[in-house]
Amino acid sequence: MIPEKMKAWVLGNPGELKLVEKPVPRPGAAEVLVRIDAIAVCATDLEVIYHGPPALIQGGDPFNRNFTPGHEYMGTVVRLGPGVDEFDVGARVTVEIHAGCGRCERCREGMYTACLNYGMNYGDHDKGHRANGFTTDGGFAEYAVNHINTLVQVPDDMSDEEATLVVTAGTAMYGLDVMGGLIAGQTVVVVGPGPIGLMGVGVAKALGAQPVILTGTRADKRRLELGKKLGADHVVNVHDEDAVAAVKRITKGKGCHYVLECSGAPDAVNEAARMLNRGGRICLAAFAQELVLVDVAYLVSNNIYLFGIRGEGRSATHRAAALMQQKRFDARLIHTHTFPLEDVPTAIRYARERVDDAIKVVVKMRH
Ligand SMILES: [Zn+2]
Ligand SMILES: [Zn+2]
Repeated sequence: MIPEKMKAWVLGNPGELKLVEKPVPRPGAAEVLVRIDAIAVCATDLEVIYHGPPALIQGGDPFNRNFTPGHEYMGTVVRLGPGVDEFDVGARVTVEIHAGCGRCERCREGMYTACLNYGMNYGDHDKGHRANGFTTDGGFAEYAVNHINTLVQVPDDMSDEEATLVVTAGTAMYGLDVMGGLIAGQTVVVVGPGPIGLMGVGVAKALGAQPVILTGTRADKRRLELGKKLGADHVVNVHDEDAVAAVKRITKGKGCHYVLECSGAPDAVNEAARMLNRGGRICLAAFAQELVLVDVAYLVSNNIYLFGIRGEGRSATHRAAALMQQKRFDARLIHTHTFPLEDVPTAIRYARERVDDAIKVVVKMRH
């Protein structure tokens, strides 16, 4: 039985979440209604809730617009839109965030996370763009509508909590894809042992990278230890050893092939460049909090490629899900805390303040 109304958290002023009743949305063509069973809190949710961007609602910031944030969710298909036969009612699914508009040049190229019509889904600007939790309602609620292209089937033996982590692994996968993807036997350095970095370690190792090196900037023994369990051949605590020197030592002076930059640290690009061999590649997967100075001359004279990614394009989430289904790395290791839907503000606080060493905080609905 699907009710008419549902509980949903909405964003008021910056940092303010309110639990309200909203109508349960109805799926259109190529869409389904998902009953949300679990949702993970992401650092980008904190950006949206406290600062606004990258959320964009009706052309402006997301505050006081009855907008429901949250994007890393999974659940059960409970209603099909017209013409949908790709999924059955009852299917367990996890979601990609971005459906894009499906009609622009980038969407047609599979780069739907870089859709040219981002946020264009209202009034005279209705291009049908969807990125749940950013430009359309997200998952801190009981139900959400998803385009079928954003759904990934969840295997029976994967828990709800683990399934919320698929899109995080998908982002790491997309970063490795964008850098070229053929990484077996090549050296990958992951900078920053947050959720994307830790999943980056798991994905890189599963794809055959060797060695995989994880660096941490905090006195962050727990996360670095998790990195080892997820497949890092070496972990470097920069309190003990300079990260660039450590990479040079481990690679016997050669430097690495790829850096997946997940720290957002002000000097991250310059450090990454100095970890690389000539012609190496950097993928930026974290937001820096300030303008940063980059040594462009070093990048140019060493033929270093610099990529930025937004989210999880080119169906990378499906490939990450396949690795997780094959149990090639154990994403469950990064899930540390669980709260019910009523406690979303507490979940947000645990993630934001890293209470009790929180890494991935999951909100699990009670059904
Ligand atoms: Zn996220
Ligand atoms: Zn588009």
